[in-house]
Amino acid sequence: MKINKSRIEKDFNNISKFGELSNGGVTRLAFSKEDMDARNYLKDVMEELGLRVSIDAFGNMSGRREGKMDIAPVAIGSHLDTVPEGGNYDGIVGVIAALEVIRVLNENNIETLRPIEVVNLSAEESSRFGGATLGSKVISGKISLKDLSKYVDKEGTSLYKALEDNGYKPDEIEGAVLNKGDVYSFIEMHIEQGPVLETESIPVGIVTSIAAPTRFRVKFKGVADHSGNTPMNIRKDALTAASELILGVERIAKYEAGPATVGTVGYVYVKPGAMNVIPGAVEMGIDVRDINSDDKKVAVGKVIQLIEAIKSNRPVEVEYEILTDDEPVKLSSKVIDTLVDTAEEIGLDYKVMHSGAGHDAMHMADIAQAGMIFVPSKNGISHNIEEFTDMDDIVKGTELLLHASLKLAQEGD
Ligand SMILES: [Zn+2]
Repeated sequence: MKINKSRIEKDFNNISKFGELSNGGVTRLAFSKEDMDARNYLKDVMEELGLRVSIDAFGNMSGRREGKMDIAPVAIGSHLDTVPEGGNYDGIVGVIAALEVIRVLNENNIETLRPIEVVNLSAEESSRFGGATLGSKVISGKISLKDLSKYVDKEGTSLYKALEDNGYKPDEIEGAVLNKGDVYSFIEMHIEQGPVLETESIPVGIVTSIAAPTRFRVKFKGVADHSGNTPMNIRKDALTAASELILGVERIAKYEAGPATVGTVGYVYVKPGAMNVIPGAVEMGIDVRDINSDDKKVAVGKVIQLIEAIKSNRPVEVEYEILTDDEPVKLSSKVIDTLVDTAEEIGLDYKVMHSGAGHDAMHMADIAQAGMIFVPSKNGISHNIEEFTDMDDIVKGTELLLHASLKLAQEGD
């Protein structure tokens, strides 16, 4: 059985055209025209490969290659949507690798006990509606019908409306929920989005756990005043207050929580934002992540304590809101072992590692034995037109995906 690089490249090049930018990147927001075009392409390819395509109320796609028994399938895949001005690899490599797995099984006339399904999960990126991994959240029962109207894009289009406009059935969203065991196992191949594999010259990563974020929005309200006429002792400077929190988040993540804790203030908006005016209002976004739930709780608790301390020590009003508070996820040890054994057998150099970024696999883990394969990201860059993964590494990742899914698909209940 041999992976065919040129077939993967063909899918890659075809999908790259949907939302292609003149500078090399791609913008393919969830449920946009470009995303719908990419989905239609995928549906056509799935049908050409003899897969039975089904699409749920949320647009999650699966293409099923039947097994000898009608039992829970092995699912493989990722997502086709991207961030604005994103790259051609994030999500996509998992889908095109899954298609190649099917081609190899087909041309070698391999029958599996379990069905194998290629999946494309909807709206993985948070860029359009403000929530990430929405398709897998729907499947794992974490999003209800009323939530669909709460997610709204910049143009004011709700997720509900976007689904309806594209012919999906938001009112039937509960029908898309799967139960534990409905899917036997799920393997998502994805770019690493970090520098580890490239730095160590290792072609594949086998992921053990996925860090989860807690995200805050914090607003500081002071008084915008003249920078020349306002004495220091009566100022209500929102930015100096905010600065204490920015440095505090760094200190907490670095020294006061766990060894894997990371904390980031990713944006700061300062108003009015003029050189000769004391900043009257600041809004910032904080992202705290860890693979260890207890360590993350410690970090989050300290960030809240610090916010309260700044509030009482400085003459400004401070308000915060927790936007997301997800639990870190341990991936299936069964799938991890299968991936490790398979990599050994096919002589592939691998690294066992955790993921700092969130993925659909963390929600699929609720309903299936879930695992992930990472392939290297050049310079660790992602969510950017500079995103790049060597096609030879994608081939190696696909080889691991093929042999590992084949093993799982030959297992009975
Ligand atoms: Zn992704």
